[in-house]
This record gives sequence, structure tokens and C-alpha cells, in this order.
Amino acid sequence: MITTHRWVVSFADADETNRNLLGGKGAGLAAMSGIGLPVPPGFTITTEACRAYYDSGGIVPAAVWEETEDAIADLERRTGRGFGDAERPLLVSVRSGSPVSMPGMMDTILDLGLNPSTVRGLALRSGEEFAWDAYRRLVQMYGDVVLGVDRAVLHDIPADRLVENDTSPDATVNSLQRRIEREVGQRVPDDPHEQLRASVVAVFESWMNKRAVDYRAVEGIADDLFTAVNVQAMVFGNAGATSGTGVVFTRNPTNGDPGLWGEYLENAQGEDIVAGTRTPQPIDRLRQTQPLVFEQLVEASELLERYNTDMQDIEFTVEEGELWMLQTRSAKRSGRCSVRCAVDMVNEGLIDRTEAVRRVSSGDLDELLHPVVRSVEGSVVLTTGLAASPGGASGAAVFTADEAERLAGEGIDVILVRTETSPDDFHGMVASQGIVTARGGMTSHAAVVARGMGKCCVAGCRDLVVDPVARTLTSDGVTVGEGEPITVDGSNGVVYLGALPTVEPQQDGYFETVMGWADKIRRLGVRANADTPDDARVARAFGAEGIGLCRTEHMFFGEERIAAVRRMIMASTPEERTDALKEIEPFQTEDFEQIFRAMAGLPVTIRLLDPPLHEFLPNRKGAASHIDELERRLAVSEVPLARHRLEEEIAELRTMLVQIDRLSEINPMLGHRGCRLGVSYPEITEMQSRAILRAAVACAADGVTVYPEIMIPLVGFVAEYEHQKAIVDRVANEVFDEVGLCVRYKLGSMIELPRAALTADQIALNAEFLSFGTNDLTQTTLGMSRDDSARFLSEYEEFGIVGANPFATIDEAGVGSLVTTGVSLSRSANPTIKIGVCGEHGGDPTSVRFFEQLDIDYVSCSPYRVPISRLSAAHAVIDKLG
Ligand code: PEP
Ligand code: MG
Repeated sequence: MITTHRWVVSFADADETNRNLLGGKGAGLAAMSGIGLPVPPGFTITTEACRAYYDSGGIVPAAVWEETEDAIADLERRTGRGFGDAERPLLVSVRSGSPVSMPGMMDTILDLGLNPSTVRGLALRSGEEFAWDAYRRLVQMYGDVVLGVDRAVLHDIPADRLVENDTSPDATVNSLQRRIEREVGQRVPDDPHEQLRASVVAVFESWMNKRAVDYRAVEGIADDLFTAVNVQAMVFGNAGATSGTGVVFTRNPTNGDPGLWGEYLENAQGEDIVAGTRTPQPIDRLRQTQPLVFEQLVEASELLERYNTDMQDIEFTVEEGELWMLQTRSAKRSGRCSVRCAVDMVNEGLIDRTEAVRRVSSGDLDELLHPVVRSVEGSVVLTTGLAASPGGASGAAVFTADEAERLAGEGIDVILVRTETSPDDFHGMVASQGIVTARGGMTSHAAVVARGMGKCCVAGCRDLVVDPVARTLTSDGVTVGEGEPITVDGSNGVVYLGALPTVEPQQDGYFETVMGWADKIRRLGVRANADTPDDARVARAFGAEGIGLCRTEHMFFGEERIAAVRRMIMASTPEERTDALKEIEPFQTEDFEQIFRAMAGLPVTIRLLDPPLHEFLPNRKGAASHIDELERRLAVSEVPLARHRLEEEIAELRTMLVQIDRLSEINPMLGHRGCRLGVSYPEITEMQSRAILRAAVACAADGVTVYPEIMIPLVGFVAEYEHQKAIVDRVANEVFDEVGLCVRYKLGSMIELPRAALTADQIALNAEFLSFGTNDLTQTTLGMSRDDSARFLSEYEEFGIVGANPFATIDEAGVGSLVTTGVSLSRSANPTIKIGVCGEHGGDPTSVRFFEQLDIDYVSCSPYRVPISRLSAAHAVIDKLG
């Protein structure tokens, strides 16, 4: 049992479960010693000692040194060697090891204990060349790590040229020592105890070196964990042909295939692999050359996996045919490997299903569901922005939706780059492999539509300037023209210059198995935000249990429809509007019918029209310049028929300009949208309700089970809801009378304004369901525009003002508190009311965990995020179980 006052503990006595005290490496060495694997003896100077070093302003407590000396004496007894003994020298390695793995971030020193006299003792045992080479390594590492000498001084000049004409075995070491002395005024000391103390301090210091600090900041590792230091008797992989060093994974870390996978380098130390000076061979090399050692390694690996009940990443050394285990830890692995391992380990009886689900992360699924960009050496980052929709793709940069469509039609992969996207760009987004925008946040048009289509998107790249006229993008002084290749990494929010390779996703039976287990654990329902029959089919295939949000405005796009919608908008009387709506109604009915069929047996929530009407009109600038162009043509045209046509077209466009101006708003997001449109233009609500219910009845008549749910958007006052409800109920009765068939439908409201959340009890009284629209609720609670806040939110994250982008991860204290209030108010008024969340947060793992705590019924997210929400909902339950 280790107490916190214990500074030093031998591997053989350590409590391996105390990882915080021993660090990961120390705990692994203790565990391997404990189960009888061949581990070179040694001890761990604990993280407490490192903490004490920092707490006292850089002084190691005297007791740490006393216990270290005792441990060295113990090591001398165990190995039968002496630290500084000229005949049988004890050599040790000194390695860092923090509680959380930080590979390569801190320092290591090998061969400690060598000096001009002990090197001769080592030479007697292992040969002159070997001994002096070890001494050279010590001097180089010590010079670098402890004395801070520039690496170039220590490494760049080939050793044999350091001292011309001097061929004595100590020439290289002497030369290095002189160089070091010239640089820092001291040499590597001869006293092994002094070497050890300085090395331990250097490892403590490396906890705060820049790369370690940066790594912790990126990985979210606390600075106060500190590092332990492991001091261990040296074993030599560079002692000849029957020696070597290697790293193995207990399964293939890319795909999870069973069996040892790794590399082996003959006659070498680990540092030779790290330095990249020699290329290791596949581990099979060891099987061929030393089959018995290989068998021993396989057995040790299997034992370690069983013991740790997880896939391991193991470092080992073979010294003259003898195997030594140097490190074991849970292996880093690809998403595919993670899922396969979890399933295999259940089948092998190592873990249970709950543990298997717990071990698969949402990041693992992201990797499985989307292509992953492989940044290669020399990759040039063009710009960075929000990781708005995961996945990766490369293609020719294009700056207009039409050009995207044209080139895609020729079979060319394109990336659509826009300042921001609007519904006008939809066809270009469909044609593109990926989308990049200079403006817009996590719930901007580009982000939401890209996620819905499962396309990668980086939004809100602040440094990016897009010039659609010159057809260029510029970022940080680099300009890219139309057709030049770029690569989008939507999982990390990075855009690269050139075409980088991507790894295609592969789903297999393992994925389905884990998802099945997750479904058995989770309580929360998972639906999809899907607007088309295709989306609905994808969502269902990904396991959606219905549609939680069908944004009907997305069905208004497409040339034929948009023309009718424009006529509807420009209508000056209700009659004209009703006529235009009659043209749209058949399309809507057909779409709803297809969606109901795709989701047969599952609920489908259809939301009535939401965005401001001017969004359906063409861009003002574009219309104005089109008029200019037509007028220029009119001025030179002499053919009467052509003049007449031009005049007509100009007149039409002028009327449209008037409409655009009439409808356009300074704050459209807070303007005439949602149910406010339905209140002003009840004909729209009537048409949509009729289309939904006729489609439902038609399906029911065909024997398809339908569960239509009609949702009223942007409600703030209960009276708005009641107003719209009356229309829907009236239309329903008309449709049922007309067809002579009824279907059960539900009516509910979005809760996406603070006022709606605070008065949810009133709305709930006459509603069968409520769905929290956390995109607008975040926008209106924070008073931050969904589209413009990306400009400063990254700084807010950097300064720690917000923990995460609130449009991606729910702001629990603010928006979350409103949702909590809304849920409890609505339940108090209507205990059986069904409650969901359909904002983008429904696909965010952290937010899903929060929603689970509220005991709501379901979350709804874009189709490609459905598996992630299913898994996160299961994780939320596992968290609760503790
Ligand atoms: C919301 O506001 O959260 C929502 C789902 O609606 P939309 O994103 O369409 O505004
Ligand atoms: Mg909304």
C-alpha cells in the first residue's frame, strides 16, 4: 500500500492501481512485475515528488534523494552490480511517465552510470565498441536533455569526423565532452549519483517544457497531474544479432484484426527507431530469427491483454536472446479497430457489453461514418474555421453554385467556397464534395445543410476572403483560383492547399453489433432531421426511430417549385396567393407521402414553413445587375420582338426588386418568420396542413402505417399556437370528410424562444408534443446571431469565456436552464406530453448527455449523426449507472 508520503517505490512493491502516483509507465511496469513477466528491476520516483519539486520552487526534498539512494542500493543487490563499480557497473535508464499518456512529450536518458572507468567494465562484458557507443549515447542524451546543448552540436556532425586522425575508442566521447564544455561550461559528470540526480530533475523540468504544456492544452490534460520518473536497470537491444528492440500492438491498430502487430529492429535501442535512422522490420522478423523469444512475446502480450482487459501497446527489448518487457499501455487505435476490438473482447469473455459500448467513442463512430483526411508531410493549411460537418474531401475550388453543378456534371470533384451559403446555393452544395464558408456558425445554413447531406463542411473561416467575381479565394496571403485543388477536413475545421488523400469509411457487422448493444442500454429515443424521402431512408438505415424535424421550407427549392413559391410571395391578394399555393400543394403532398412511406410505422414530425419569405426571392444585387445588363441590351437592340421581350423581362425583375425591398428585413432571424408567417398568411398553413393530411390519408388507404405530427414553429405566445392549431384542426376535418378516412395526427409546438420556454405550461395544455429548437433558443437566449457569432466565438473559446461553441454544445447554465424550466413547466401542465430536442445539439455527445438528465423523450439530429446520438444516449445511461 502506497501512502502519499512515499516518494520512491520499487516496481515489485508498487500498487499498480495507483496510476496517479506512479504514472502510466510506472503502473504498467508494476503490473508486469506483479504478474511475473520479465521486467528489468527498477523503481518509480512518484508524481508526488515532482509536485513537491514544483511546490518548493524547484527543490527536490532531501527525503526523495535519500529514498532514491536506498532504491539504488536495493537495485545493486538485485542485479549483483554496483552503481559506479568499475568491474560490474550498474547502468540505468531514466524515463518520464505521467498519469495520462503524453507520447514523446517529455524526456528520457539511457545508459546512466557510465564514466571513463565504468565504460571499461562494460567493455569487458560486452566489448569495446559496444561500451563506447553506449557512453556516446549517454553523453549525447545527457548533453541534450540535462545540459540543454543544441542538438545540432551533438548530432549533426558524423562522430567519426569529430576528431580527425584520432581513432582511439574514446575519441568520440572526448570530442563530444569538449563541445559540451565549450557550449555550457561544464561536462557530463563522471559521478553516477550526480548523473542520476541531474537527470531526475531534468525529467521533472520536462513536465513544463513547451511541447508538453502545448500538448496538455490541446488534449485537455491537467497541469497538476505531474510526471513520475522511472529508474530501471538497463537492458541492451544493441548487444549483437540476437538482440533487438520492438513495439507491438496486441491486435492490428488499424482494423482490429487479432494477432500481434508491430515492428522489430535487430541490434538496436529504442532510440534508433525513434530517430528514424534505421527502418524496423515487421514483427514477423523476430518469429523467423528467434522463434522461442517470439512465442514468449506472444504469451506475454496475451497475458497483458487479459490482465488489463484491453488492447495493449507494448515496448520490449531482447538482450542476447532474453526477452525484457519495458512498457505496456492501452493502445491508441483507429475507430474501426476500436469497434471491432470491443465486439471481439465481448466474444472472448474479456469484457461485458456495457463496457464494450462505453469504450467506443463518438469520435470512433465519426471515423467510421465519414472519410478521414490524412494530412501528409508538407501539407499546407490554407485556413481554419469551425468543424461544421465531419468528414474529408478534396476537389477543385469553385465559387458559385452553378459552376459547382457544371463541373460536377463533367465528373469533376468540386469544393464549393462561398462567403456564406443561402438557399440559392443548394444545388451547388448537392454537386460538391465539401463546402467552405468564410462566414457563418455551427447552425448557419451551410453547416445545417451540409450535416443533413453528410457532406464535410468548414464554416466561418475568419481569414478567408472569397471573391466570386474574380473567382478566387485568399487566405493569409495565399490565393487559390477556380479549378485549383483544395482539401476540406470538416472533422477538424481545416482547409488544406492541394488534394490530400482521404481514407474512406467502412462499416461492417461489428458496427451494427455495437449499435445494437447501445440501443439496448439507452433510454432516450433518437430521431432524425430529414427533409426529403432520400434523407428519410438514410436516417432509417442509420437507426432513426422517426423524423423529429422535417423542415418544409427545404422542400420549396428546385426550379419549378421556387417559381411557384415566388408567385405566392409576390401575390397581392389572398386569392392570388391561394392560386400560387395550389401549384405548390401537389409537390408537397407527393413529398410528404414519400417521406411517410420511407418512415412507415414511425412518427414523422413535419414543421410548417419557417424562414422569412424573402429568402425565396433571388439575391437583390444579382437581380439589380441583371436589370442593368438587360437595359444595355435593350439600348442596342433594334428588333421589335426582342425589344418587347427584354422590356417584359425588365418589368418583371423590377416588380421583383420592389418585393425584395418590401419583404427584406434588417434582422430577418427575429422578423417575419415561423408561425408569424402562418398568422399573416393563413393560406400557407392551410395548404401545408392539407398536403400533410392528404398524404397521410393516402398512405393509410394503402395500408401504410403513418404517425403524422404537425409542428408549429417559432411560437412565443400561446395565442399564436392556438391560432395555427385551429387552422390545422379545421383543415384536418375537411380532408377526412372529403376522403372519408381519418388518421390520427398529433399537433405540437417548437420551443425555440425564451418566452415559449418560460410559458411552456400554457402551450403544453393543448399540445401533444413539444420540441426544443435549441438553435434559435441559443441565438435568442444569448443574443448571439447564429450566422455571425463565429467571428468572435473562437476567441471566446480561446479566452475561456465559453467552454465550447454554444451552437454546437448546449450552454447548460443558460440555454440548458431554460430547457429544464420548459420541460418541468410543460410536464406540470400536461404530464403525458412528449418532449424532444431538434436543434443541432441533438447530435452532439455532450449535449445528449445533458438531455438524458432531463428525462425528455427523444433527440433529433441529422441522419449521419443518428448513430452518434444513439451511442451518446447509451453513454449517458452508463454514466448514470456510475
Ligand atoms: C432550431 O431553431 O433549433 C431549429 C431546429 O430550427 P431551425 O434550425 O430550422 O431554425
Ligand atoms: Mg428554429
